[in-house]
Amino acid sequence: MKSTRKGLRESDLFKDTYDRLNCSHCEMVLKKENDTEEVFAVRTCPECGAEFKELP
Ligand SMILES: [Zn+2]
Repeated sequence: MKSTRKGLRESDLFKDTYDRLNCSHCEMVLKKENDTEEVFAVRTCPECGAEFKELP
């Protein structure tokens, strides 16, 4: 799983005018899923299911 930082750098993601993370392919705002077992949050595109880990 890529990090959101890497996704932004590789143009898989972009930030909209409200500073929200969007999937570049679908132009959908990523959903956030918190896994209590992990130190990072998982951000998922509701359209294509792409997953990114968001490091604190
Ligand atoms: Zn997508």
